[in-house]
Amino acid sequence: LARLRGRLARSGSPLGARLLAVLSRDHLTEDDWDELEETLLLADVGAGPTGELIDALRTEVRVRGIQDPAAARALLREQLVALVDPSLDRSLATQPVVGDDGEPRPAVVLVVGVNGTGKTTTVGKLARVLVAEGRTVVLGAADTFRAAAADQLETWGSRVGVPTVRSDRDGADPAAVAFDAVRTGRSTGADVVLVDTAGRLQNKAGLMDELGKITRVITREAPLSEVLLVLDATTGQNGMNQARVFAEVAGVTGVVLTKLDGTAKGGIVVAVQRELGLPVKLVGLGEGADDLAPFDVDDFVDGLLG
Ligand code: GDP
Repeated sequence: LARLRGRLARSGSPLGARLLAVLSRDHLTEDDWDELEETLLLADVGAGPTGELIDALRTEVRVRGIQDPAAARALLREQLVALVDPSLDRSLATQPVVGDDGEPRPAVVLVVGVNGTGKTTTVGKLARVLVAEGRTVVLGAADTFRAAAADQLETWGSRVGVPTVRSDRDGADPAAVAFDAVRTGRSTGADVVLVDTAGRLQNKAGLMDELGKITRVITREAPLSEVLLVLDATTGQNGMNQARVFAEVAGVTGVVLTKLDGTAKGGIVVAVQRELGLPVKLVGLGEGADDLAPFDVDDFVDGLLG
């Protein structure tokens, strides 16, 4: 997390620094407030949350005044923490569960999202985190649409030292592969099965059919513990529109925001949570195996403020 803070600070993170620079001015004019608003909008915070933050800041400045830069910083920090919402449950459900028959079932984590957002990479990194915690993991390559996806996942699997269940056939039924992976996880007594899926967004009905079928067959073997939506932080509002469709059809329980190392627009965290009504649970900070971190509100805000 110290690393997360460092990375966000290094990525430029002008949001916090610019807000602070304006807020520390002696007498805040309407132009200053406009500048604060623009800074937030440019950082992808989104119109609604930006309006709220400006209103809250104006009220606090009126009531308390700002005596010095330290007070401005404290005020801004407090308001940003509230905006990112420390009350959301960001825990990952990866504990095995007990079935109706009293037998253990692996926790199943389904990973969904548009192609290229970082699903396969996230599955690999998450497997590594879990293995480091001493958990046994099985990977399921249910992205049977993209030819190289199963190979890519298998490479992650061997790197991390966990088995990958896949089909040798391109275009195989993703639900069948997901089912096999969960069955393998169950029969080998694995703690967690991570299922990678295809991000084909041909249309909402098609996506709903495909993910619905995957979910149905998985839950014959074990309940779904998490459905993680992977979102590329660098794609801004366009990514949000696609994400909304997934959130509507897939029963998503949390968001993984990837490529946060590639953007200074940390405000996307706020927009994602508000617009999708879902907590950001994990963040991707690079392409490497260790570049996945749990999302921590305080560290994130400290990173923004530099
Ligand atoms: P998928 O199609 O959703 O499975 O996406 P991939 O996992 O294949 O990732 C697409 C590209 O994004 C790859 O080049 C990854 O290395 C890269 N990537 C994934 N996560 C991150 C991240 O957190 N930071 C950066 N910089 N690159 C990432």
